Amino acid sequence: MDRIAIIGGGPGGLLLARLLQLGGLSPVVFERDAHAGERPQGGSLDLHDETGQRAMRLAGLEAEFTTAARPEDQGDRLYDVDGTLLFDRNGPADDRPEIDRTILRQILLDALTPGTVRWGHRVLEITPADDGHALIGDRWCERFDVVVGADGAWSRVRPLLSHAVPAYEGVTLVELGFDVERHPAIDALTGSGKMFAVGNNRVLITQRNGLGHIRGYAGLRLDEATARNWQAVSPERVRAELREPFAEWAPALKEIIETGDFIAVRPLYALPVGHRWTSRSGLTLLGDAAHLMSPFSGEGVNLALADAVDLAEALTSGHGWQAVNGYEEAMAGRAAIAAVGAAQGLSGAFSSEGASPVLQHYLSRVNEH
Ligand SMILES: Cc1cc2nc3c(=O)[nH]c(=O)nc-3n(C[C@H](O)[C@H](O)[C@H](O)COP(=O)(O)OP(=O)(O)OC[C@H]3O[C@@H](n4cnc5c(N)ncnc54)[C@H](O)[C@@H]3O)c2cc1C
Repeated sequence: MDRIAIIGGGPGGLLLARLLQLGGLSPVVFERDAHAGERPQGGSLDLHDETGQRAMRLAGLEAEFTTAARPEDQGDRLYDVDGTLLFDRNGPADDRPEIDRTILRQILLDALTPGTVRWGHRVLEITPADDGHALIGDRWCERFDVVVGADGAWSRVRPLLSHAVPAYEGVTLVELGFDVERHPAIDALTGSGKMFAVGNNRVLITQRNGLGHIRGYAGLRLDEATARNWQAVSPERVRAELREPFAEWAPALKEIIETGDFIAVRPLYALPVGHRWTSRSGLTLLGDAAHLMSPFSGEGVNLALADAVDLAEALTSGHGWQAVNGYEEAMAGRAAIAAVGAAQGLSGAFSSEGASPVLQHYLSRVNEH
């Protein structure tokens, strides 16, 4: 299992590459982006102690993580549609420091041997070859013993292992950005971490990011065709479409829709809860490619990093594909539990009961501590 290809330079793929290098192997990461700064990498992520933070410790990157992380940004606020503050917690509920996704990716990139990532290498096809698998791109082809699909929601590797296809969850998030300096009202609304305003099957969210930024989301139930159409029209048209569903909301909350810099329309997709496949020598998956779920569990990146730890252990164990099979079993079990939580989180946030399921969730966490 000498020649290892990792498709996808997201957090999962990069951490796997780092751990394999620490284990004396020389993986190659194929990433479709032309360079690290090609696309905004998204908002803030909280790393959990036993999964994401543990992965950073095992990768020897605890100090880098601690320096860049923002433990002070773990507060939670909840408003109802009238703008009444129902819940306000300033301190952290758990030890789950936030880190910007772009910074996390850079820490992982800086830790790799130069040249590990082949930027601008979109993998178009994977075919069996006598001695492993061939990766085919635009005017390039290379053979590997092991191919790891760390290529996210729409993985090219997954169809070789499973017939599962991500299904639309009926909910779409419109992502918006704010500078604290230009948006003092949004700054005040957000508090010390994340704020949710929850109404009848609709939410407005803002979350503090690093470097004086806040990320916002307007979420609502939409059919898939409409969501796809919103991805194709102008930002001002999307903003106009959002006005009616949020018409009855407090003016201070509607500021989120009116003043945010438009970033993207994100329809949410998920793989079936408990997704697994029959193990096939030389091919495996990690992270979203294996268990895409809605972000309402807050587990996605933590699972991807935990997968990378377990898969690196299997690939360096000297026990052949049987060890990878063990990784696949453990990963599927762990992901199934999180996927149930993500589905419950989504149905709690987008219900006809307004803010009360989310309030119950916050109060139960307070009682746990
Ligand atoms: C709006 C939103 C908010 C979220 N919030 C949170 C949160 O708060 N906490 C949390 O834990 N998780 C959150 N998530 C989920 C989290 O982002 C993912 O679970 C995590 O990024 C998965 O990491 P990954 O490495 O598996 O895949 P990805 O991060 O998706 O990385 C995949 C990489 O593969 C590359 N790629 C894809 N196809 C190819 C190809 N054919 N060839 C070459 N390269 C390819 C992509 O360019 C990308 O770099 C959120 C997700 C969304 C959409």
